[in-house]
Amino acid sequence: MGFRLGNREGRAVLVDELGDRYDLASLSRDDRLADPMAALAALDTLRAAAEGLAEATPEGAVDGSTLGPPVPRPRQCFAVGLNYRSHAEESGLDVPPAPLIFTKFPGCLVGPTADIELRAATVDYEVELVVVIGPGGRDIAAEDAWDHVAGLTIGQDISDRALQFASSPPHFDLGKSRDGYGPIGPLVVSTDLVGEPADLALSCSVNGEVRQDDRTSGLIVDVPALIEYLSGILTLLPGDLIFTGTPSGVGMADGRFLAAGDVLESTIEGLGTLRNRCV
Ligand code: ZN
Repeated sequence: MGFRLGNREGRAVLVDELGDRYDLASLSRDDRLADPMAALAALDTLRAAAEGLAEATPEGAVDGSTLGPPVPRPRQCFAVGLNYRSHAEESGLDVPPAPLIFTKFPGCLVGPTADIELRAATVDYEVELVVVIGPGGRDIAAEDAWDHVAGLTIGQDISDRALQFASSPPHFDLGKSRDGYGPIGPLVVSTDLVGEPADLALSCSVNGEVRQDDRTSGLIVDVPALIEYLSGILTLLPGDLIFTGTPSGVGMADGRFLAAGDVLESTIEGLGTLRNRCV
């Protein structure tokens, strides 16, 4: 049974197709599942609880402004650089010979409507499909990879370009991990509710002007190949995140960086929208 999992003021909630919410711990009569991380590590219980939604009484409509990051404390948060050909081209860089992996330090993760604090004049946006690992593992074959995915969500890989390229070779990790530079959400949606995850429309707009508009079919290294690659090196853990890369249209390409007051909207088909104001 599919599910949509959110983090409402620190507690795990399930959300139905109408947008009504249900407290997961109350629904499953298991207080441990109040923590979204515990819920992601107990997928069978989560699916069973989602099955019971039809008979349960909702606690009200979900309100984006009360949502935190649906995966608040992943132990590992990977990101992939230059994973769409169009973005490698606009960056003036060759497609890397192996997946270019960096980390967004998990402390930068925030909810779907969090403000983005601009601490420089070179802050940029990158809409990305984010994979949430369910059952972890090592040496996962690509053909088994989707069995290890709890669900999908939207991520904004907010990047301070001056900081990113301040050192040489560049330190991607720091440039993309300032406080609040990792909005994710609004919900983790199980893959069976998403349609065809390998071909989802994703887009990003600033003040209503569309800047990025592509499909996940443009990924150079697709989700199964990323999971095979990473799990061949280290053990993937429940709740780990993989930001899979961004298509072309980032501000760096034409020098149009984010400014205070800008409203950034990041949308992926079947997953909803992140709406973040720059301050
Ligand atoms: Zn990125």
